Amino acid sequence: MRDLLSAPGKRVLDRLVGQAGALFAFDFDGTLARIVQDRHAAGLTETTREALQALAVVASTAVISGRSLEDLRPRVDGIPAHLIGNHGLEGLHASERVMQQAKDCCRAWLKSVAKAEEDLIRVGVVVEDKLYSLTFHYRQACSPPAAREAIFHTVSTLSPAPRLVLGKAVVNVIPSGNLHKGSAMLELMHQLRSSAALYVGDDDTDEDVFSLPDERIVSVRVGRKVATAAQWYLARQSQIGLLLQYLTEARARALSA
Ligand SMILES: [Mg+2]
Repeated sequence: MRDLLSAPGKRVLDRLVGQAGALFAFDFDGTLARIVQDRHAAGLTETTREALQALAVVASTAVISGRSLEDLRPRVDGIPAHLIGNHGLEGLHASERVMQQAKDCCRAWLKSVAKAEEDLIRVGVVVEDKLYSLTFHYRQACSPPAAREAIFHTVSTLSPAPRLVLGKAVVNVIPSGNLHKGSAMLELMHQLRSSAALYVGDDDTDEDVFSLPDERIVSVRVGRKVATAAQWYLARQSQIGLLLQYLTEARARALSA
């Protein structure tokens, strides 16, 4: 893993911004927005909002989040970016039939989850219904191991068996299938005829993009880590504004050259 804001990293970015139809895609929580104790309070800083807005005006830009679109949309209000929600399930590419299946699956799971509700509440777990997937949050739990144990016990009873993706104090419970952030990224690149792309994320669901065997995508993890498929890293979330500004300026230089 190498530092994206180093000289070699900037050379990669300079090459990328010069490509016609280059796509710049970002995860939301932990990437564009700082992780906060109360997930409802997560948002862009004014600097990040302005920098994302400026980039979205000069280049194809996307936000690919685990949040539902309904939840994500007001947080990036007014920014002309493509939005994809529910870890890639919700957005531009899934057929109505697939979406209905995911919805039916979540309805069935919620019935099982309701039976365990008291046990989950007791250990500080909050279940979020995102219509096409569920998220079990335990950031507020007194004992994270006890919370995780209660979550894993509950999800082991779910039928059909979900795909589990662990995150920062969350367990994402997703209908199994081929839709994830990686497939969403490829579909978006296909639709936009992008020959190159950047993807920045911070969490396990982002590994679905990082691990794509696709040389067109420059993959960046927020926070250096050994066990990741990302090629590059941003040392801290607070550097996202710097990256956005660099991309916008480099893009403007490439367009005027
Ligand atoms: Mg994230």
